[in-house]
Formats: sequence, C-alpha cells, structure tokens
Amino acid sequence: MFKAIRIDKAEKGTTAALTQFDEAELMEGDVTVAVEYSDLNYKDGLAVTGKAPVVRRFPMIAGIDFAGTVEQSSHPAWKAGDKVVCTGWGMGETHLGSYAEKARVKGDWLVRLPEGMSPRDAMAIGTAGFTAMLAVMALEKHGLTPGDGPIVVTGAAGGVGSVATAVLSKLGHHVIASTGRMSEADYLKGLGAVEVIDRAELSGPAKPLAKERWAGGIDSVGSTTLANLLSMTKYRGAIAACGLAAGMDLPSSVAPFILRGVCLLGIDSVMCPIELRRAAWSRLSSDLDHGKLAEITHEIGLGEVIAAGAKILAGQVRGRIVVKIL
Ligand code: NDP
Repeated sequence: MFKAIRIDKAEKGTTAALTQFDEAELMEGDVTVAVEYSDLNYKDGLAVTGKAPVVRRFPMIAGIDFAGTVEQSSHPAWKAGDKVVCTGWGMGETHLGSYAEKARVKGDWLVRLPEGMSPRDAMAIGTAGFTAMLAVMALEKHGLTPGDGPIVVTGAAGGVGSVATAVLSKLGHHVIASTGRMSEADYLKGLGAVEVIDRAELSGPAKPLAKERWAGGIDSVGSTTLANLLSMTKYRGAIAACGLAAGMDLPSSVAPFILRGVCLLGIDSVMCPIELRRAAWSRLSSDLDHGKLAEITHEIGLGEVIAAGAKILAGQVRGRIVVKIL
C-alpha cells in the first residue's frame, strides 16, 4: 500500500481524498517510479475539485506530472536509480496519476532529468513551465527574435505566465506582462517583465484589427483576451495559445490572419512528441534562471493539495506550487 490522492465517482460528481492505494491496482507500464515531487497545475485543480470532467477512469489517482527515481524497469532505456520526469500522457485523466508515492508508466513517456536539475526543480517547473517553454520554442520556430518587438504574456502571475516571463526575459525579449493582480507588478518585474499591464485592457470584445502592440505573445487565458492579442499583433507576428483560464471560446475574426499575416500557434503539452520534450527540458535547464525559479515556487505536502486545487481555480495562486511526495 502507498499514499495517494484518490478520485472516485460519487452519485453527484466525484470525491477526492488522501488515502492508501494498493500497488496491485497500478495500471500497466514497464517502469515503476518512486515519486519524489509533483506539483499543482490548473488541470489538477479541476480534477481534485471535480469542477470539470478531466478524470475519465475510476478509481483515479490525481496528478498530471512527477519527478522521481526509477524503482523497477523492464524498458531497455531505464534502470533502477535513474532520475526521470514525466508530464501529461493522460496521467490523472485516463492513466493513474502522480499524487502518489509510486507511479507505473510506459518507459517511452519518460525524460531523463537534465544534469544538475533536481526532482524538486523539475516539478517547480512542471507541466506549466514545460508548456511555457514549448510556447517559447514555437515562437522561435516561427522566427521571432528579440529585435522584432515586445512579447506579451497573459495570466502572467500564474504558473505558465511566470515561467514564460522569466524565460523570455532571460532570452533578451521585452516582456509585457498582463495580469489581473496589479499588486503583483513588482513580482513580475522581478521576473524580468519590462511593462506590466492590467488584464482589463485585453478582456473586452476585440476589434477585428487594433493598434499593433507586440510581435508575439504567450496566452494562457483564451476567449476575448486571445482575440485582443491577435488583433494587436504586429504584421507577420505570432501568438502561442496554450490555455483557457477565462474560457474556451475565441470570439475573433480572420482579419489578423489575412490582413496582417499573423499566426496562431497551438500548444499542447499532453501528447507532445518525446524528441520535443527532451529538447524543451534541456532548454529549461539552460534558459530558466535558478534564482527566479526559486522565487516563483512554494512547497506544500500531499495533504494540502485538495485545498490548493480550489485556490488555483480561483486565480489565487502566484507562480508555482511544488508538492513534496516522499
Ligand atoms: P494558473 O492558475 O497558475 O495561471 C492562470 C492565470 O490566468 C492566473 O494566475 C491569472 O493570472 C489568469 N486568470 C485566471 N482567471 C482568469 C480570468 N477569468 N480572466 C483572465 N485571466 C485569468 O494556471 P496554469 O499556469 O497552470 O495554467 C494556465 C492555463 O494554461 C490553464 O488554462 C491551463 O489549463 C492551461 N494549460 C495548458 C496546457 C497545454 O498543454 N496546452 C498545459 C498547462 C496549462 P493573473 O492573476 O496574472 O491575471
């Protein structure tokens, strides 16, 4: 038996509780990992509160990512003692997840921890930070460089936003951080934002085209915010869309695409191919300042996850929460 946050189906919705889980109930996989750290992402908040149907198998162990040490492996790439990180692939949704002392997964899902990155650092970054890096890399692949103009980051005080701000600033970009919490302006400037704007500026209905303000953007908010980002993007710029904190809709027009050649780049971390994962983790070890990572992170225990899940959905979490498991 080991400790885990278990989600069960109830008459109405789901229940979540920290309890004992039987190792015999672990799902198929060729690698068993002793989980040292997990973290709290927006999707974890949805799962532990039952606010959205992200869990599609019961019983479920919640948690969408982990870092830890391989305990047993029949996969040729992995042996006991290897330090690994794993995000997405349906963990916490269709495959038993990471808020547990043990996880059994496919060896093909794992990435070796970069040299010098501890399991705690990896989960301070977590799915949110990994997604931020995928977005940065998508903007780079589009051809954006610091000389092209500012990059806007929405939901900047959240997990994706904080890591995106820190990485972009380290890479020399002029970052415009958009937040609903202007009280966090100093925090965002500390991460390297040059300008901090109130998210209210971007949350109203979008015009088809508006004054060009940035060469690119990373959006974790969706809805009218993403529509405004697109309509304010410079000629041939690009916006990487990865989130829906304000909604799933996109009330926009084709104007930015056909009149300004703007590109909308979709970012998915869950089924991201393994080569791209390895590249993103390697970039995170070189392009994210350790001191800034420490600044955005605070630690909780497994027993505090369910309460923290409600807070992240209410937009009350700043930066990243790392969850100590072992
Ligand atoms: P956080 O809750 O840490 O960050 C989201 C931030 O969005 C908040 O901190 C807040 O920032 C802002 N926000 C919250 N509610 C609203 C609102 N109603 N209107 C405008 N802004 C709002 O979550 P994460 O960083 O973990 O995730 C961010 C988003 O990215 C989520 O939607 C998540 O589902 C998605 N995501 C997608 C992934 C993918 O693979 N595509 C992977 C990881 C996350 P502030 O206070 O600064 O305004």
